[in-house]
Amino acid sequence: MAYALPPEENANSSILTLHHVSKTYHMGELDVPVLHNVNLDLQRGEIAVIVGPSGSGKSTLLNIMGGIDTPTDGEVFFDGKDLSAFSERQLTAYRRHSIGFVFQFYNLVPTLTATENVMVSTEISNQAMDPVEALARVGLSHRLEHFPAQLSGGEQQRVAIARAIAKNPQLLLCDEPTGALDLDTGRSILQSLVQLNKELGTTTIIITHNSAIAGISHRRVRLGSGTIADDQRNLNRIDADKVNW
Ligand code: ADP
Ligand code: MG
Repeated sequence: MAYALPPEENANSSILTLHHVSKTYHMGELDVPVLHNVNLDLQRGEIAVIVGPSGSGKSTLLNIMGGIDTPTDGEVFFDGKDLSAFSERQLTAYRRHSIGFVFQFYNLVPTLTATENVMVSTEISNQAMDPVEALARVGLSHRLEHFPAQLSGGEQQRVAIARAIAKNPQLLLCDEPTGALDLDTGRSILQSLVQLNKELGTTTIIITHNSAIAGISHRRVRLGSGTIADDQRNLNRIDADKVNW
């Protein structure tokens, strides 16, 4: 499906293109088809929200975008380069430098402070920002030395977002980032993602089963039965604090 309208006047350029991507898992004798002929052309700087019910292949799709999983068929181009042609070393570099991941359950290291959790990613990156700056950008300057167990769910997710953006990734991939949070906290997390997109220009992909979240996007994509059922520019962006579910 073609996507012709860039989110911003200067952004008419693809950063990630999925071309006829399919994925089937093989479980012994059993084939489990998950994605069929997914075509997507993500534009630099946009926030794309991909909505689909549980089991529709959202996490599989995000993992393929992030170089964690590979398609059975089709190609993924990052900045015009075919990921399937990448060596292990190039894929590692892609995951390490180009991609930031945010997960539903934060995935912080429980024995490290907020600052140290962010350092886990900045220490292996070659273009990182100061971890303290990353935490300030998500409003956590007052929680630098707290351990995850001393933080609320929303604060833990902010640390996870700081960890992801601290390495200045070209793509921020978020898998149900508000899925474990109440409405108000979820809104504040979405607010942070919108603000970071505005400030840093990071292309942001959010996948969720919650269609209300698509309100904050530049672009709403619907995944149904493993394929793109709908893909449209969002002409009525709403503020994150107006999102309701
Ligand atoms: P969603 O994130 O939309 O809930 P997933 O991408 O996690 O969906 O999963 C889609 C389908 O693929 C599910 O039926 C799931 O059981 C199956 N699946 C996901 N990962 C694997 C795997 N590694 N091996 C086998 N089946 C898998
Ligand atoms: Mg999932």
